[in-house]
Amino acid sequence: MIHTDALVIGAGPVGLFQVFQLGLLGLKADIIDVLPHAGGQCMALYPDKPIYDIPGVPVCTGRELTQQLLAQASPFMPADAPDALPRNLHLGHMVSELRVLPEGGFELLTDKGLQARAHAVFIAAGAGAFVPRGLNLPGLDAVRNLHYFLPEQADAATPWAGQHLIIHGGADEALSAALEMALHPDPAQRPARLSLLHRRDQFQAEDELDKRVRALMATGQIELIVGMPVAAQVEGEQLTALQILGADGQTRTQQLDHLLIRLGMSPKLGPLTTWGMALERKQVAVSTASFESSIPGIYAVGDINTYPGKKRLLLCGFHEATLAAHHAAATLHPEAPQHLLYTTTSPLLHQRLGIAK
Ligand SMILES: Cc1cc2nc3c(=O)[nH]c(=O)nc-3n(C[C@H](O)[C@H](O)[C@H](O)COP(=O)(O)OP(=O)(O)OC[C@H]3O[C@@H](n4cnc5c(N)ncnc54)[C@H](O)[C@@H]3O)c2cc1C
Repeated sequence: MIHTDALVIGAGPVGLFQVFQLGLLGLKADIIDVLPHAGGQCMALYPDKPIYDIPGVPVCTGRELTQQLLAQASPFMPADAPDALPRNLHLGHMVSELRVLPEGGFELLTDKGLQARAHAVFIAAGAGAFVPRGLNLPGLDAVRNLHYFLPEQADAATPWAGQHLIIHGGADEALSAALEMALHPDPAQRPARLSLLHRRDQFQAEDELDKRVRALMATGQIELIVGMPVAAQVEGEQLTALQILGADGQTRTQQLDHLLIRLGMSPKLGPLTTWGMALERKQVAVSTASFESSIPGIYAVGDINTYPGKKRLLLCGFHEATLAAHHAAATLHPEAPQHLLYTTTSPLLHQRLGIAK
């Protein structure tokens, strides 16, 4: 059971900035995301595309913005080792239940059994929990050699080293995974055979990516399998083969050691709709003074909220997180004076940020 001041649901850009703003105001937060990495849409949908409208940052990619937000929040997201996950960042957990406690405060529960209690909750859930699109085939629930994500670090060990890996998909996320695995910096971690399975011999990817994958196909480092998986052969916890329907109408059996599905992500609003806050068109309705929902103590920031004039832009989410943090700090500590402090000049903020003066 986690006990903290604030729980932030969603480790997208706005959730990460929320932790930073809460930290500046002296509030401890834990942050939870269903994805295996932080960054929300920036990492799941456009990690390598440029963003041009962050104030003071002429251009950065989705990945760079995420790295900068993590670095900025690091005084309030401490890790046990330089490359370890921050202790208060809980990845791979879908928040499924949120309850108001009769004695005050909130309790939430994740699908993996994590339980947490806090005085305030910040919903930074974007368009909902990102879950990877899967194959709609029976028998795959318990198999262990079916994957959706690449190892976190580009040079990390892979589960398919020296084996036959099929990557399913024909857009950026499938092609970039194929490139990454074909060119893994440690040749021992590359698959012995790497196939790209797509319904046709045409990809929906960036030109440059398309060209690089085609070049590896020409040298035999990546093999293209054209067709649609229509059935799976499973033995125990292993997927051993796919039945693939080809463009010629024939179904063929394709043996494999590992299957990596890269068909994109779809956001699932799911559990959030049952938590009792007033919703408008599946967004959490908030006050623009506090970004509090219809339930006092539950705030909603970023793409998940709605109010007159709402724009789903990063900088609007950052503003919302700032005002929500100030409102929560004033509500949780009514006895403390709520002076506006500047990070430039305030010794208290420097102390919280761990900056020696
Ligand atoms: C292609 C593209 C380009 C864009 N370019 C720009 C741009 O140039 N400038 C700009 O300002 N904006 C841009 N945006 C919009 C911007 O990305 C969003 O406004 C921003 O990501 C919203 O951040 P967020 O933190 O609110 O939500 P998200 O980024 O959606 O993050 C929400 C996170 O919450 C998690 N989550 C949700 N529910 C749960 C749950 N129940 N349990 C656990 N985790 C949960 C999700 O998995 C996700 O990781 C772009 C968007 C797209 C798709």
